[in-house]
Amino acid sequence: MSVLRILAVVVATLLAGTVSAAPPNIIVIYADDIGYGDLGCYGGTGAKTPHVDRLAREGRRFTSGYCSSATCTPSRYSMLTGEYAFRRKGTGVLPGDAALIVEPGRATLPRLMRDAGLRTGVVGKWHLGIGSETGSQNWNGELSPGPFDVGFDESFILAATGDRVPCVYLENQKVFGLDPADPISVSYKAPFPGEPNGVDQRNSLTLDWSHGHNMAVVNGVGRIGYMKGGKAALWKDEDMADVFTRRAVDFIARHKERPFFLYFSTHDIHVPRVPHPRFVGKSAMGPRGDALVQFDWCVGEVLRTLDDLGLAENTLVIVSSDNGPVLDDGYKDQAVEALGDHKPAGPLKGGKYSLNEGGTRVPFLARWPGKVKPGESPAMICQVDLCATLGKLVGAKSDPAVSPDSRDLSPALLGETEVGRDHIIEHANGLAIRSGRWKLIPGTPGAAKNPQPTQLYDLDTDLGETTNISDRHPEIVVQLKGTLERIRSGRDVD
Ligand code: CA
Repeated sequence: MSVLRILAVVVATLLAGTVSAAPPNIIVIYADDIGYGDLGCYGGTGAKTPHVDRLAREGRRFTSGYCSSATCTPSRYSMLTGEYAFRRKGTGVLPGDAALIVEPGRATLPRLMRDAGLRTGVVGKWHLGIGSETGSQNWNGELSPGPFDVGFDESFILAATGDRVPCVYLENQKVFGLDPADPISVSYKAPFPGEPNGVDQRNSLTLDWSHGHNMAVVNGVGRIGYMKGGKAALWKDEDMADVFTRRAVDFIARHKERPFFLYFSTHDIHVPRVPHPRFVGKSAMGPRGDALVQFDWCVGEVLRTLDDLGLAENTLVIVSSDNGPVLDDGYKDQAVEALGDHKPAGPLKGGKYSLNEGGTRVPFLARWPGKVKPGESPAMICQVDLCATLGKLVGAKSDPAVSPDSRDLSPALLGETEVGRDHIIEHANGLAIRSGRWKLIPGTPGAAKNPQPTQLYDLDTDLGETTNISDRHPEIVVQLKGTLERIRSGRDVD
């Protein structure tokens, strides 16, 4: 070997060492209400999702990936804090004027990333509250505490959900595009006299409601809660995916020279499902399917940006969803009627709000070329594990005292092993536990009012939770109830 050649090898080795020592970029694309069976790569047939399917092909597709709860707010809380939401009061689905529920200053996923040198940003749905007191926010000034206090350097969010007021974007904790001469007022208690509402205006709405969603009318759609003012700042539902995706892509491009962490929390496919006209009719399932196509486009734009900027190789991209699927969630958008043969939860039972597997077992994909081994994995992994897992990948250690339920599953994420969690808590209206092949829903068999039976299922032979075998395995019921109780009480954190 010539001296030059040796020198080249030494330089290459040094360079490789430098590159591997620097943390990667991390992007978490967090879908809303997309079920286990909704995406093509999980068997979905009603909408084409080529970009997500590409990510699945190039990365790892988990068949036992979980969110921690069957609704939005608690899953988001758990993912960002590493603590099961059921441990904290007030982490249920929040109104649009809720105070911030993440204790300002506590260790969080974005703070871990920032401490490791990554620039942190959140784009999209927040739904963790903002401000210090529920109902007392001044929407015309700086809203604090908020994403800054949770560890994000930058934020462009909607405060709660698309179906709740205020229907405006917040850029770095201020309403984006607000005309100071037209201030915003928000109330979750009483209507503002003279403002349109979804009951009186029902015949002129562009999307009719089926339950709730009949208070303020914004952009022809009834919402939960009342607001007035802020006309110039109101969002157009049709543009929301474009607005958020542009912001996400812009964040990536601005920080291409340094490591970054982007939490891209899409609105799709939550209600109201009002996709951009270019996606209307692009699925066989009406607006819910069209919103899936739109979500896939958002993912595609992120992947294309990474390719264009030469960042794909050094970026870990995770795609998951905050809870299982729901069809009619308050608007008459043909989700039930146009479903056809598509199975939103795939082979699983239940969906959003449910303790059955369809409530919390969701799509879970990870791609990091050269680092994450492509393929399918049965390893049980939960979003609550992202604090410890992603922390490990960037060289930061999560604090078990602050993130007690987060486990380092980086070997499973990378595909070095197919062993993940041995058990997981599932949270909806109550708690359930999956341990290996067994799934226990304790029920309330002794309750005086509306008692619910104890349910035990063998997921290896009965993934659809059709046959309750609790009578056949009383010893397993006792054992799992004990484990669940220990975790619930905090005596044995997960
Ligand atoms: Ca959700």
